[in-house]
Amino acid sequence: MPLKKYRQKRNFKKTSEPRGKVVKKVSKKKSLLYVIQKHAASHLHYDFRLQLHGVLLSWAVPKGPSLNPDDKRLAVHVEDHPLDYAKFEGIIPEGEYGAGTVMVWDYGVWQPLTEPEEAYRQGKLTFNLQGKKLQGGWALVEMHGKMGENGKNWLLIKHQDAAAKKRFDITKKEPLSALTGRTMEEITEDKRKIWHGKKKK
Ligand code: MN
Repeated sequence: MPLKKYRQKRNFKKTSEPRGKVVKKVSKKKSLLYVIQKHAASHLHYDFRLQLHGVLLSWAVPKGPSLNPDDKRLAVHVEDHPLDYAKFEGIIPEGEYGAGTVMVWDYGVWQPLTEPEEAYRQGKLTFNLQGKKLQGGWALVEMHGKMGENGKNWLLIKHQDAAAKKRFDITKKEPLSALTGRTMEEITEDKRKIWHGKKKK
């Protein structure tokens, strides 16, 4: 059951995050979704997600992406998320898994540069991003040896290309939602997206 871990961690009576389903029929020609969600949980991080085999493969990137190919950003592999999670922007209530504010920081499509299932199994995904903020070539590489011991530590690295920039701190310079243009504070203040269980308030 691909989304088992995702569902085990959440109480859908309390959170407005989607319960989700594994999408079985995905046309080969259709582009694959890419999204980064900025997530102010106990620690702020950026959830990097790529659509593959009907779910969103997911990595939590504590520092967020860097356009500098010299930066190797730690990306901790976390549980798959449902495809409809890509549009989720709002609040995960107190006491729930990942409680805090979620922003769609960037979104678009990705194109694998090699056969993606095989590349994923081998721990070396290379791909192009066509997002609102991130563009060009990237790699997600699984770490081996001591740092890779738990099998969850990967690195997110920008390829050297026209979209690479050595001195441009993109997370600082472009902090707003790619979906709604809002700040984290504005999303947090938007009480309409808070889930109130069955009672309508
Ligand atoms: Mn997260």
